[in-house]
Amino acid sequence: MVLDKPKKNSGKKIAKKSTRAKKRSEKNAWFISLDSRNALKERFKDLKDQVQLDVFTRKGENDPYNTVSVQFCLDLSRLSNKIRTKVHSIGDESSKRYDVEYSPTILFEPEKYNIRFTGAPIGEEGRSFIETILMVSSSESGLSKRSKKALAALDEKRDVMVFVSPDCPYCPGQVINAFRAAVERPDLIRAECVESTENMDLAKVYDVGGVPHTVVNHTTLSRGLQPEEIFIRELVTMEHLELEPTQPAEDLDIEGFEEPDRDVRRRVEDQIPDDKVAEVDLIILGGGPAGLTAGIYAQRSGLKSIVLEKSIIGGLVALTPVVENYPGFTNIAGKKLMDLIATQARNYVQIHEDEDVIEIKVGKKIEAYTNRRTYRGLALIIATGAGYKKLNVPGEEKYSGRGVSYCATCDGYFFKGKNVVLVGGGNSAMTDALYLNNLGADVTIIHRRDKLRAQKYLQDSIEREKIPVIWNTVVEEIFGKDKLITGVRVRDVKTKKIKHLKTEGVFIAIGEDPNSKLAGEIGITLGDGRFINVDRGCRTNIPRIYAAGDVTGGVRQIVTAVSEGATAALSAFSDIANPYWLK
Ligand code: NAP
Repeated sequence: MVLDKPKKNSGKKIAKKSTRAKKRSEKNAWFISLDSRNALKERFKDLKDQVQLDVFTRKGENDPYNTVSVQFCLDLSRLSNKIRTKVHSIGDESSKRYDVEYSPTILFEPEKYNIRFTGAPIGEEGRSFIETILMVSSSESGLSKRSKKALAALDEKRDVMVFVSPDCPYCPGQVINAFRAAVERPDLIRAECVESTENMDLAKVYDVGGVPHTVVNHTTLSRGLQPEEIFIRELVTMEHLELEPTQPAEDLDIEGFEEPDRDVRRRVEDQIPDDKVAEVDLIILGGGPAGLTAGIYAQRSGLKSIVLEKSIIGGLVALTPVVENYPGFTNIAGKKLMDLIATQARNYVQIHEDEDVIEIKVGKKIEAYTNRRTYRGLALIIATGAGYKKLNVPGEEKYSGRGVSYCATCDGYFFKGKNVVLVGGGNSAMTDALYLNNLGADVTIIHRRDKLRAQKYLQDSIEREKIPVIWNTVVEEIFGKDKLITGVRVRDVKTKKIKHLKTEGVFIAIGEDPNSKLAGEIGITLGDGRFINVDRGCRTNIPRIYAAGDVTGGVRQIVTAVSEGATAALSAFSDIANPYWLK
């Protein structure tokens, strides 16, 4: 390309012109990436009524987040003429009227609802932000019939604050719970999502040491993500409630499932009426890599399948900061990988989050009773994964969510610049230690042996980052003062010497406990450590019941979980067509 030579004496003019052009192009520049803009445009086609976003900032306070919030909301307004953004300074009339104190704060349609983001909608919270715009635009909370009924009984005000962090995959679910409630009862419910990392002072007031952390009427209601109906019932009663199994209902066939929607939370009430039994070919328990892959393979084989996930999609992988050994991806966040797998799975199979299977009965068909309804299938795959193993030492329970954490991705931000110990010597422990170190925490690893179990590659990274390891040592007690951790008592297993170490956080990554209780109850053979025994086809000892993923033990890698998911689904397909147990 040949450029024209500048004309004589035209230097100043050109400089002026280029400054103007630069300003114009900066003004037109997008903050949201092209891919996201395209996806959002699609989603915003569903917008019904106008939504007003009021962004409040105070110069000099959280400035980078102020900029992000303003640019993000202005971009959304450019993507849809149904979204209007107004930018205010804290101190102006509107901020006084709506009682805005923290910078940045974003209000949604404030004349109608009392819903706000205190902090920028960055990280995972971007999802709940978009979901809220859609919800407000439709004036429909999307709550289940049971939740709506429970909320109709509310006759007192509720002020809900959900504390979140940017990388916590559980947080958007709890924020949506609170915002749905505020849309359903705008007369009585105020709901706020508080980005803890930008508002540490506020987080300290409520002893937030882990997220999501929900405060109602200035009292902590829950720590962690709750199923919607439990959240609502607790919000109304302010009392702790347990899940109860639904009773088997009348035997009625359901005519196929509707196409899955793509909401953050699945709304199933309208798809399968409450009083019916859903008939499927294959019931898959668990929405981790094994369950989702089983869903893809089963549905592609022609089996009408359903994936039931008691919490959120992704299993433990969604909480893994970085995955570096899943073929095809050199380096990918666990959550991102699971989002990709889930998006693919949703093209084939219906996935119900928040639906907990409480009981299984094996008869002519296999029945799974959930907290919502009954599913009846020809076969069942158990891909329920595993939960965090606990240390079972004094103080662990007491300080859980107040400095004791099993999820570095969710809670790491609270420990920037602080001393933390990390217990464990496996891949998870090393991945978490590197993540915390990267966030700026001062990490010390405590391991019970003199050798790490983790892969060499991770061990080398620990050495390179000079993260200290205290060898041959176990934690015997976690102690603190005024609800906060101050230290741990440790014992050297060789010398038997006892020491007190000062620390503000204890991260525990000592392996997994398989979620195999239901399997045990119906007589499935469990092996060492309660892992489900399976054959090469992922068949259990009970015909028509299969197991896949972490719940079967073994090397417990993502790649083996997806492999077992596929194997289990293909075995189910072949056995339904050709029942080996009848031969
Ligand atoms: P893991 O491999 O079972 O390691 C658990 C670690 O905790 C071991 O070092 C163990 O010590 C220690 N430990 C167990 N119980 C303990 C106790 N009561 N007190 C103190 N220490 C205790 O578990 P994981 O690291 O969570 O990994 C689980 C599975 O996921 C593995 O198969 C792993 O390979 C996989 N994973 C892979 C990646 C990756 O490849 N990037 C990342 C995360 C997880 P000992 O060594 O003495 O037994």
